[in-house]
Amino acid sequence: MNNGLEGKVAVVTGASRGIGASIARKLAAQGAKVVINYTRNEEAARQVAADIQRAGGEVLIERADVADEAQVKQLFERVDARFGRLDILVNNAGILEFRPLEAIDRAHYQRIMEINLWGVVTASQQAARRLGQGGRIINITSASTRSTFPALGMYAASKGAVEAFARTLATELGPRGITVNNVFAGMVETDMTAGSSPEGVQAFVQATPLRRTGQPEDVADVVAFLASENSRWVTGQSIGATGGVVMS
Ligand code: NAP
Repeated sequence: MNNGLEGKVAVVTGASRGIGASIARKLAAQGAKVVINYTRNEEAARQVAADIQRAGGEVLIERADVADEAQVKQLFERVDARFGRLDILVNNAGILEFRPLEAIDRAHYQRIMEINLWGVVTASQQAARRLGQGGRIINITSASTRSTFPALGMYAASKGAVEAFARTLATELGPRGITVNNVFAGMVETDMTAGSSPEGVQAFVQATPLRRTGQPEDVADVVAFLASENSRWVTGQSIGATGGVVMS
């Protein structure tokens, strides 16, 4: 399939599992060479890489904690060495921890913000030095920025900050022909949501016009659009893949 990604190089952070793994597979299926970043689960990353390679795609697996600036820098230097170019960055790596207000402490704040926000900032800095005309930065944020529920304060704040950061970046990088957009997802079935109570899942489904939870591919398809030439006039946007639980 040709969706304009032939010969392009994409870095997907947190691509060993869940939504990131699906994005990596999707971009590879559309012709991109994909860098699969992970932080702990090497075996899962290798599995995603093997699937892509079996289908004829080209991959690089890179361990790096996105919260660690030095590791992120090294990741991009390895991309330079292997592929010599960068076209697409998908800032997908993220964590979620439930904490009601009274249980929020500095350690929780730092964990969430350093991975979910600082990780996006440092990876975007590295990417911006390499991206050229037609470059893409795509962040995976969350419907919790618009319709949230108790104990998700710091997570929702981190994702809201990413969306605001992206709008500013879109103004900085637009003159160079680089677009910056967010995809905010509703509840998607991954390891992140595997611990959700049946009542919580049911409540989401009932509140969702399309009456189901999301699958990683539901988000990956929107990312593929934003990565493609088809989105050339789209920047500074936050696009919902939520089943309609949030409308804009
Ligand atoms: P997931 O299944 O928990 O997978 C998380 C991925 O991020 C894994 O590949 C993990 O790598 C990686 N990761 C975590 N911390 C990292 C770090 N410090 N450095 C590099 N990689 C790291 O999560 P998911 O549900 O696919 O979520 C992906 C993104 O979508 C997140 O940003 C999340 O906030 C967002 N999102 C998810 C949902 C949902 O309902 N699932 C909804 C809205 C938004 P390892 O395998 O090595 O641990």
